Amino acid sequence: MSLRLTTAITLGRLAALASRSLGLGGGTTIPGRVARAVEPQLVRLLAQRLPFGTVVVTGTNGKTTTSRILAHIAELAALVPIHNRAGANLASGVATALLEHANYLGDLAGDLAILEIDEATLPKVFDALMPRVIVLTNLFRDQLDRYGELEVVAEGWRKALNQLPSDATVVLNVDDPLVAEVGRGVKGQRMTFGIEDERVALTVLEHAADARYCYHCGRPYQYTVVYFGHMGKYCCEGCGTRRLNPDVTAREIVLRGIEGSQFTIDGPRGSMRVRTALPGLYNVYNILAACAAAYSLGIAPETMERAIESFTPAFGRGERLQLNDRELVFLLVKNPAGFNAVLRTLLQGEQAPVVLIAINDLIADGRDISWLWDVDFEMLCGRVKGLVVTGRRAEEMALRLKYAGVEPGRIVVEKDGKRAVLRAVAMAEEGEKVFLLPTYTAMLQLRAILQRMGVVSGFWRQ
Ligand SMILES: [Zn+2]
Repeated sequence: MSLRLTTAITLGRLAALASRSLGLGGGTTIPGRVARAVEPQLVRLLAQRLPFGTVVVTGTNGKTTTSRILAHIAELAALVPIHNRAGANLASGVATALLEHANYLGDLAGDLAILEIDEATLPKVFDALMPRVIVLTNLFRDQLDRYGELEVVAEGWRKALNQLPSDATVVLNVDDPLVAEVGRGVKGQRMTFGIEDERVALTVLEHAADARYCYHCGRPYQYTVVYFGHMGKYCCEGCGTRRLNPDVTAREIVLRGIEGSQFTIDGPRGSMRVRTALPGLYNVYNILAACAAAYSLGIAPETMERAIESFTPAFGRGERLQLNDRELVFLLVKNPAGFNAVLRTLLQGEQAPVVLIAINDLIADGRDISWLWDVDFEMLCGRVKGLVVTGRRAEEMALRLKYAGVEPGRIVVEKDGKRAVLRAVAMAEEGEKVFLLPTYTAMLQLRAILQRMGVVSGFWRQ
């Protein structure tokens, strides 16, 4: 135990205390930043003390939900997981999470760490964490990234995974050709997942689809099945590259719109029929990713089944609240593929829904909102009961909807968040749902508004 590590932990803790008591914010990253300035090896020194090691979850969409499901599975398997808070997925956030659970001697109050890591940050922290399991969910164009940038991220993953010890496991989504390609060259163990149910497929690739070209020969992939975005079953007619067969799969999927879904999971240790409250096909992927990771940790399928059935959605990701006898459903939107998945899910209900879209353009949302033009809002035409748009960029959002063919008379622009929520609620009948689709900071604002209205409790943590 080095004096330097003790000093780093002490100062990190003081920084946490100061930022809390002075109300400075930044509590999820500043302590880690301070401690790493004193002991640059902090993450490595703490992570190596975890008896069950570290699981890293990375990818564009689904990191938070996948890690939360896995943490819930681990808890039911009598393990104590350490988890970084949503949004704190850069190196300083990882350091803060470990620091919060360490005593002054550097002992950790946890059995394993389940850390969500930003896809571009992975190579920077990989070496220090030396994960036992690494989960690659998907690679989507996030807002304004170009296809070439996705390739850069994939290349960073490839380099990082090259250092992986042979007893580590890479969990990967074979329905995403970019991710599958990264996993193809992995030397360690591999646990793959994917969907095997053509009834839930789309007929064509969406506008937001990326990675349609073969990594080896550059020809466009031929898709026989598309689930969403560029996820599906594909092969290359040029060189014969094709989707790998998944180890953990979902079949006989029954999507019940926002109410969740039911499906059968086949894995290395048998089959189970599960029911989840998590909505949409994208959450089927998140559950498969968590189960594949749990298999890699040696957790029994019965435990996974109990965990899936009892899992409740995270704040902003399918969470539900009551206001004036209407049910508010929060669904965070942050990129074209995710937005499409959310729209498709809420349109699965029997009634035409009331939808509120809240678009901000602060740093955490992405300053440039032109990605909204890549979302297939056309699917809303004639299928919504009411539409309210709010947020700093409400006018542009309304314009986008108009170009999508939504009747302008049906679109209400209301910049004030509280009035926007009340107008949306007034459009719904008693007992009906109102879908709130905010970007990240708009979600925090709507949450604060609902808190002042007494709809939600004043304190929450993820
Ligand atoms: Zn090819």
